[in-house]
This record gives sequence, structure tokens and C-alpha cells, in this order.
Amino acid sequence: MKNRRDLILEEMGLTPVWRLRGSASLAERAPATEPPARNESRVTSNESLQPATGDRRAEIMSLDWTQLKQRVAGCTDCPLHAKRNKTVFGVGDEDADWLFVGEGPGADEDAQGEPFVGQAGKLLDNMLAAISLKRGANVYIANLVKCRPPGNRNPEPQEALQCEPYLHRQIELIRPKLIIALGKVAAANLLASDASVASMRGKVHQYRGIPLIVTYHPAYLLRSLADKAKAWSDLCFAVRFMKDLQISKTATI
Ligand code: SF4
Repeated sequence: MKNRRDLILEEMGLTPVWRLRGSASLAERAPATEPPARNESRVTSNESLQPATGDRRAEIMSLDWTQLKQRVAGCTDCPLHAKRNKTVFGVGDEDADWLFVGEGPGADEDAQGEPFVGQAGKLLDNMLAAISLKRGANVYIANLVKCRPPGNRNPEPQEALQCEPYLHRQIELIRPKLIIALGKVAAANLLASDASVASMRGKVHQYRGIPLIVTYHPAYLLRSLADKAKAWSDLCFAVRFMKDLQISKTATI
């Protein structure tokens, strides 16, 4: 009889490939095909782009959760505010050990004001369930930018730069033990790197002193079944990292 995890993996189309294995899978890193860029339509007006000055960052970094949510809800500091329906602040356990960061809201998220609620969200929830996690319980989910880029294009560098202090403050308030960057845009901005997802996978990076692991964005995985096995391998890598962290903490007590 199949257990719950097997049923979840089967639903995700990940069986028989997705199986928790020992540390051997860490060495099974094959070069991955770079995810295709999202729709490339561009915002041409920068008229509402405010400089991400030190003063602005310092002001944002002084906010508590309530103030930060209010600040984001009323933000007009970059052109993305013009076409949004709702800001998408983030959701989950504000004391979470796990923080998942995507690039920005899509149409469903823009309508509902919550990250990862469409098909990609369903896949993310299944990925979490496969490693015994769930949204809201020791998990926080956020995006790099809080307003939907029109047409699902990637955020412009200036838009990402302008919105980054909000995520920075969220991370400071949560203090997660591990950040999972979902997709190239999130990884590139958090790590200030232009490297491919394929080359960033399988390593523990650092974002302001917090460990960070890179994997594919669930929306990309919906289009690229072959890379689901790699994403599963990344999640197993993350689970092992968290277990090792716990063991080393226990050993030093
Ligand atoms: Fe403000 Fe970020 Fe929305 Fe731009 S994307 S308007 S910086 S909340």
C-alpha cells in the first residue's frame, strides 16, 4: 500500500524518480538546461521609481511586522504599483526555520494577495509535503518583488532593487535557518550573481550570513518535467543540511 508521501510524489509526476536517498545524491549533479526567460514585455516608464537610498532602506529596516505590512500595502516606489491589484507581502510562520523566496506574483497571486496560489503554488505545496513541511508551519513564503510584473515578465533590475529592502527586512524579522531561492531571478538578486540555476544548485550559499540553497521555480518545473528530479534532489540536499545543522547544534550544547 502506498503511503501519503508516495501518493504526493505520484501526483507531482515525480515517481519513480523522486525518492529520498542517502548522501550519494549530492554527487549526482548533472548540468541543467537553463530555465527559459519569462515573457519579456517591458515597463517603459520609470517615473515613479524612487531611489533606493540608504535613508529609505534604514527607514524600512526599522519597521516591525505591522508597520512593514502597511508600508508594502501602500507602496508606490516603483512602476509595478501602477498595474497591480493587490500587493503580495508573503505568508507563513513568522518564526519559520525555512524561507522560500520566489521572484514575483503572477496573475492568481495578484488577484488574491498571497504568494504561490496557482498551479505553481500547488506544486510548491506538494514539494513541501514531500519533505514533511507545509505552508504556515515552520515555513514562510515570500517573493523578491511584492507587485506583479505585467505579463509575467521578469522584474526589471531597478524594480527588484527598489523592492529588495522589504524582503531584507522580512528576513531580518524571521531569521530563518535556511533560505531556498526558487528560480534564477530570486537567486540572482539574493546572491548578486548572474550565474545559471544549474551552476548554483547543490551548494550552500550565503545571504547576509544566512545559508541559502538554489533550486528551480515551481512554474518552470510545470513546463520542464525532466528537471523535477533535480528539484527533488535539491530539496533532499536542503533536508540533509537542516538535519546536519541540528546535529552540530546538539553536539555543541
Ligand atoms: Fe513597492 Fe515593491 Fe510594489 Fe515596487 S514592487 S511598488 S517597490 S512594493
